[in-house]
Amino acid sequence: MTAPTDELDLSQFQCLCCGTCCRWEGPVRVTDEELKKIAEYLNIPLQEFIDKHTVLTPDRRSLSLMEKEDGSCRYYDAETRFCQIQAVKPKQCRDFPYHWKFKGWEKLCAGGARLAELQKKKQS
Ligand code: SF4
Ligand code: SF4
Repeated sequence: MTAPTDELDLSQFQCLCCGTCCRWEGPVRVTDEELKKIAEYLNIPLQEFIDKHTVLTPDRRSLSLMEKEDGSCRYYDAETRFCQIQAVKPKQCRDFPYHWKFKGWEKLCAGGARLAELQKKKQS
């Protein structure tokens, strides 16, 4: 049996760059400060970046990065499996899975699956 999500020791977590967390649907929230940093990084005037590359979150409380039609983040490069704004990616992206996750996350995240497997082996 796999260790329950809450029991996984995230100090041993390693991202395996599978890209799943950049492909699943759902808002990638950006703060005002992050908006400025990303716009600057992409060399796009701030207002243009806000108008053309962000949308209001469903709860209308903040802006999020616009998604591609398939729901993946528009800054996810499927060929290289890399974030095109890695240097300035939002906190929400950096925080997964350390500061937020959801039930069953480790089944979708390759790093989480590996961690669950490692910890399962240790327990047996
Ligand atoms: S900003 Fe980068 S890390 Fe965040 S979801 Fe988009 S591609 Fe992934
Ligand atoms: S789903 Fe997990 S392993 Fe895959 S890119 Fe995201 S954090 Fe890394």
